[in-house]
Amino acid sequence: MTYDDNNIFAKILRGEIPCEKIYEDDYVLSFYDINPQKKIHALVIPKGSYIDLDDFASKASEQEISGLIKGINIVAKKLKISSDTGKGYRTLANISENGGQEVPHLHFHLFGGEKLGKMIV
Ligand code: AMP
Repeated sequence: MTYDDNNIFAKILRGEIPCEKIYEDDYVLSFYDINPQKKIHALVIPKGSYIDLDDFASKASEQEISGLIKGINIVAKKLKISSDTGKGYRTLANISENGGQEVPHLHFHLFGGEKLGKMIV
């Protein structure tokens, strides 16, 4: 599968579609999910063109990989849901068809702001 430059997150990265931005640096963009599933529902995406986590793991540079992981932590801190607040959150990435991935640009969901239910329902 090749990366689709017209996916919605690619358009957000190019500024063609607006987003409710939370954080941005050289490696990631974070914004609120348009259809929140929990009180806090944020997305963190790499700036590079990667379809999913497997694509990212095999092609991204070490800087991009650490930048994404650090970006998730920075966003959790900004949203005051990180473990050091005593609150915590859940992060997940859907991968390909069985994972239920809808947007073919790697993204991590961050859910928080309330007690989360079972991991899989
Ligand atoms: P996934 O099923 O893991 O691919 O999740 C895609 C997520 O992207 C869903 O939770 C959508 O609500 C969210 N989404 C789709 N379009 C937008 C958008 N324009 N801005 C913010 N979130 C979006």
